[in-house]
Amino acid sequence: LKSIAVMTSGGDSPGMNAAARAVARTALYEGVHVWGINDGYHGLLEEDMRELQSMDVGDIIQRGGTFLGTARCKRWQTPEGRRLGHENLVKRGIEGLCVIGGDGSLRGAQLLSEEYGFPIIGLPGTIDNDVWGMDYTIGCDTAANTIIDAINKLRDTASAHRRVIVLEVMGRSCGWLALVSGISGGAEYILVPEEKFDLEEITSSLAAAYERGKRYILIVVAEGAAKGQDVCDYIAKHTDIETRVSVLGHIQRGGAPTVIDRVRASQLGEQAALALISGISGVVLGYSKGHVVSVNLYDAVNNKKKLDPEYLHLAKVLS
Ligand code: ADP
Repeated sequence: LKSIAVMTSGGDSPGMNAAARAVARTALYEGVHVWGINDGYHGLLEEDMRELQSMDVGDIIQRGGTFLGTARCKRWQTPEGRRLGHENLVKRGIEGLCVIGGDGSLRGAQLLSEEYGFPIIGLPGTIDNDVWGMDYTIGCDTAANTIIDAINKLRDTASAHRRVIVLEVMGRSCGWLALVSGISGGAEYILVPEEKFDLEEITSSLAAAYERGKRYILIVVAEGAAKGQDVCDYIAKHTDIETRVSVLGHIQRGGAPTVIDRVRASQLGEQAALALISGISGVVLGYSKGHVVSVNLYDAVNNKKKLDPEYLHLAKVLS
């Protein structure tokens, strides 16, 4: 194998740069050419790609975002789009592709692998930590730390005013970020899309806690569980407690990656390049229980990851 390519796709996440850098430098170390495709599948269709040298990936390990750019691409969801994408790879002599992205991006990669037998290694790049078969995705640690930072600040002001603070965090179908940041931020209530909750019950129990002298309460809500504003309005309407909502938004996607995200992304990037070079294909590489694992690409995109029941239990016990 003489030449591989790397792209980032879908929602960006801190650590994508570290992963792409490791793919590129490992390939070059092994004497293999490496192409960087800009803006995910969109760039592949537009032939927006170039060969990378070691220096092209210098000075990026510390940056959030992705130096390759990322995009969403509707055409990739059509057979015609994928045919053109395959053509654009083959005509440059590219023999393997590493796709760094979330669930959707990996699904797109799986189709290319299935339809053309094209060698693909997926890396989980998403802050949501929602890829099946692994307990870590590149960027989730930085995002959780960003949320903790916000929680620390919100606690100061909530305590000063005896307020209920509702913090809405990202997570449309997966509550991992809310759960982990809620546990480490000491939230009283954590609302996730995977678990039923009763706003009436929460409201009456927090009102009782205020009666007992509690100074403030923090509720972390994953966007897929409820709108933070709706939770805030409900509590404000049914109690006399001052309630405020804070929606963290895209701040959660950015920032310098943490040590964990940099080291893990680097190792996954290295392993992805080595896997392609040695002829392995059709898998997503990730971490599970502290070790690199290889998960079948089809399985990864066709199963829904569940929240860790031990974390759910812990949240309940500690709240
Ligand atoms: P993420 O990778 O962060 O989950 P998206 O779900 O937006 O982000 O997916 C990114 C891109 O991956 C899409 O714009 C599309 O090009 C491709 N993609 C997503 N789902 C599919 C699918 N079912 N079939 C083919 N391509 C897909």
